[in-house]
Parts: sequence; C-alpha cells; structure tokens
Amino acid sequence: MMPANPESAMTARVLVVEDEPKLASLLMDYLRAAGFEASWIADGAAVIDQVRNTRPDLVLLDLMLPGRDGLSLCQELRRFSDVPVIMLTARVEEADRLDGLESGADDYICKTPFSPREVIARVRTILRRVQVQSDRQQDRLSAQSPIRMDVEAYRAYYKGALLPLTPVEFRLLRVLLSAPGHAFTRDQLLARLHDDPRSVNDRAVDSHIKNLRRKLEAVD
Ligand code: CA
Repeated sequence: MMPANPESAMTARVLVVEDEPKLASLLMDYLRAAGFEASWIADGAAVIDQVRNTRPDLVLLDLMLPGRDGLSLCQELRRFSDVPVIMLTARVEEADRLDGLESGADDYICKTPFSPREVIARVRTILRRVQVQSDRQQDRLSAQSPIRMDVEAYRAYYKGALLPLTPVEFRLLRVLLSAPGHAFTRDQLLARLHDDPRSVNDRAVDSHIKNLRRKLEAVD
C-alpha cells in the first residue's frame, strides 16, 4: 500500500534505538525498503544527543536498553522535542507498564511475535498523522498572520521581510504563533524555549519578548 503522501514518506528519517543488532538490522532493512532514511544506535545514553543533532522524523525506541530505560529516555525527549516515538517492547507485560504511565510515547509495538511489516505500517500511520497536523497548523498560521515561518530553514518573514532573529527568538515566535490569543506563563515559555529551563533565569523571557517586539516593529 502506498502512503498518502509518498513524498514525505520517502524522505522521512527514522532513528532506530535497539540493542539487539539482529533485530536492528532487520528493522533497518524493512525501513529502507519502505523508502525511509534509517539510522541506528544501540546505546541508550546516546539517544538524546542524537535526536538533538539529527532531528529525526520518528524514533523507534526499545524499552529495555542497557544502562538506560526507554521510558525515562522518552520522557526526557519530550522536554525538548515532539518527535513521534514508537516504543518497542519485548514482552506484553512490558507494554502494560506503558499503559498506565505518562511515557509520552505515541504508540508501542510488542516484539514477540515481531512483525517488521506492522512496524512499517505503524510508522507510516503516525507520520501521516503528524504531517496532517503540521499542514493544518501551517495553514492556520499563514491564514491568520502576516508572519511566515520557514521552519526547515529557521527563518521568519514579517510582511515579506526577513526577520533577523536569534534561534531562541525564532522558537519564541513559533510558540506564540502556535496558539494565537493564548497567554503563556514565563515557565511555559521557558520550557518550550530551552532544553534545560532550570539553567535559565525566567526574566530572560522578558528580554526575548522585548527583542522580538522590537524586531517586528522595525519592519513597519
Ligand atoms: Ca533491548
């Protein structure tokens, strides 16, 4: 079956985090055959950096990793990324753990019996869902605002003029535009702007807002 949007499925990058090499290589084969760009890491401790640096479109995350629990990894990922996560569990009992917990995972798949076809089907389903959501959000943003954001290129335009934003200001603008009319608290903004909000003084948000406002006003 062809995905609804072959273009995006072709280019979607999937990160496989799995400590069993045989299983990982099987997954990689299936993912690549299905047209995805796949990469693999076995080390749970490397996941956070890998996601930060490579920004995959989806993560297949083994629940039981040496040295690091997939669940806590997923929760840590959620602090800075909304990348879709599918958890891979070895046993049904493990899947039960996921049900009751706020893992932040989008889906989970049991590895026994393991069906790579099912994994591919779930990956496609989730990527389609995310694509539809982001298309809708993009439509909403462009319909309501003289501001246009090119998220891939990290660029924002106001009335057609490129805004000279810092990465933090770009993220701030994006957060604000994602919920027009919504009042965010400083903490909520901090959590969305910084990978580790604890390291930042919450008054820093005020100066980001001020700078952003100044740059927007400069265009008028
Ligand atoms: Ca494992």
